[in-house]
Amino acid sequence: MSLTLFNTLGRELRVFKPITAGKVGFYGCGPTVYNYAHIGNLRAYVLHDVLVRTLRRMGFEVTHVMNITDVGHLSGDNDDGDDKMVKSAQERGKSVLEVAEFYARAFFNDTRRLNITPPTVICRATEHIGDMIALIKKIEGQGFTYSAGGNLYFDITKFPRYGELARLRLEDLKAGARIGVDENKRNPHDFVLWFTKSKFENQALVWESPWGTGYPGWHIECSAMSIKYLGETFDIHAGGIDHVAIHHTNEIAQSEAAMGRHPWVNYWVHNEFLVLDRGKMSKSSGGFLTLQSLVDAGYDPLDYRYFLLGGHYRSQLQFSYQALESAQNARKSLIDRIMDKASALGPAAALPEPEPSAVSALSQSKAGSYLDAFNKAMEDDLSTPRGLAELWGLLRDPETSPQNALLGAFDMDRVLGLNLAAEAERRRSISVPPELKGEIERLVAARAEAKRAKNFAEADRIRQTLRDKGVALEDRPGGTVWRCER
Ligand code: AMP
Ligand code: ZN
Repeated sequence: MSLTLFNTLGRELRVFKPITAGKVGFYGCGPTVYNYAHIGNLRAYVLHDVLVRTLRRMGFEVTHVMNITDVGHLSGDNDDGDDKMVKSAQERGKSVLEVAEFYARAFFNDTRRLNITPPTVICRATEHIGDMIALIKKIEGQGFTYSAGGNLYFDITKFPRYGELARLRLEDLKAGARIGVDENKRNPHDFVLWFTKSKFENQALVWESPWGTGYPGWHIECSAMSIKYLGETFDIHAGGIDHVAIHHTNEIAQSEAAMGRHPWVNYWVHNEFLVLDRGKMSKSSGGFLTLQSLVDAGYDPLDYRYFLLGGHYRSQLQFSYQALESAQNARKSLIDRIMDKASALGPAAALPEPEPSAVSALSQSKAGSYLDAFNKAMEDDLSTPRGLAELWGLLRDPETSPQNALLGAFDMDRVLGLNLAAEAERRRSISVPPELKGEIERLVAARAEAKRAKNFAEADRIRQTLRDKGVALEDRPGGTVWRCER
C-alpha cells in the first residue's frame, strides 16, 4: 500500500513518504471570505477532503490545517488592485470582520453540505498577525528584504531558487512587464511582506509593526500559519493551479529564506480548474455559480460532489447542468442499488459497518477484488473516476453477496464521501403509512393497466402524480417497483 501523488515540485509522480512515520501534516489554502465560494473553489476543497480521507483510510494520522483569509488579499495576486475584503465591506456597508464572519459561515455551510470533513485546525489571518510579524522579522534578519515607499518587500534576487515550483525562468523574471505596477519594486516579482498605509489610505484593519502601522501581504499568512501548526517542514501543501506561479512560489521563497531549509514542503498538490462552457469561473468577476444556486435548481450538494469525483483533479472539468443532471441520475441509481442490497438483507437487518476486520475478511472474495482495484485507483494519484467505476462494478456484480457488496461499498465511501450508508438508512427509515401504501399500489396498478392499453399519456400522468407525492417508479422486467424518496 503506497500512495503516489503528482508533485508539482519536480512535475513527477512520487511515492508519498511522510516526514514522521504514520503522520501527515497537510495545509490546504482556504477561502478569501469576501464573497460566497463559487463551485470552482469548492472543487479545491473536495480534493483536499479526498486526499485527507484517503490518507486516513490508509492509517495515517493527518493534521489538516486550513486558513481563512480575512486580510491582505488584493484582487491581483501580485500586490496590485484593490483589497478584496475592504472593497467588499465598502460595497455592503459592513465592517471587514462582519463580512468575513458572514462568508466564513456560508463557506462552512457549503463544505458541510458537501460532506467535506472539517479540518483539524482552522486559522484566521487576522488572529495570527503576531506570527506573521515574527516570521517577517526572521526573513528580514536573513537579509532578504528591502523597504521602499513605506512597504517591506521580499527581494527575489536574494533567493536563487525563486520560481522553482512554477519553473519560472530567470529571463522571464527579468522581463519587467509589470514594473510599472508598483514603482517601489526593484523587480516585478518582488512581493510585499508588510504594507503600510502608503498603499491604501482607508485600510480598515491595521496593526503596529516594526515597519510601521499597516497590514501583512497575502502570501505571508499561509507561511506563518502552516509553520505555526505543522512545523518548519511539513508533508503536503495544496491549492488551485492558479496558486503555483505567484502565491505558492512566494510562500516557498519567504519560508525557505526565513528558515534556511529546503525543501520547506515535500509535496505540492494542485487541482485544475472547473470551467464553465463560457470560460473561467472567477469570484472577483461576479458571474459565478454557488452551491446554493445548484440546490435552488433542484440538485443535492452530493450530486455536485459526485460530479466532481467523476473527473480527475489534474484535468480541467467543464461544468454544465446537463453533466450535473447525469451525476444526479447516477447517484440516484447508486443509492437504488444500495437499497436493493439492503432489502435483500431483510428489512430489519442492520447495514454492515466497514470495520477494518470485516473489510479485510473480504480479501478472498469477489468484493475484495473490487476493493483492491479501488484502493489501487485511489493510491494512483487519487483517481476518483476509476474509484467510482470500481464501486459501480462491485454493486453490479451478481456474484457478490449483498452483505459483501454493501461492506465494500461503504468502505469505498469512506474516501468518496457520498454518504451512502446514511442515505440508505434515511430511505429505509421512511415508513409509509398503510393507507398511503394502498393508494400508491392502486396507482401503480392503474398505470400498468394504462400502459397495457397503450394509453401512455395516462400512464405518464399517473407517474407524475406519484412523483408529486415523493414516490419514484422503476420499470423492471418483472414489473414496476416503487420507492418513497422523502
Ligand atoms: P480563493 O477563495 O479565491 O482564495 O480561492 C480558493 C481556492 O479555490 C484556491 O485554492 C483557488 O486556487 C481555487 N480556485 C479558484 N478558482 C477555481 C476554479 N475555477 N476551479 C477550481 N479551483 C479554483
Ligand atoms: Zn495560501
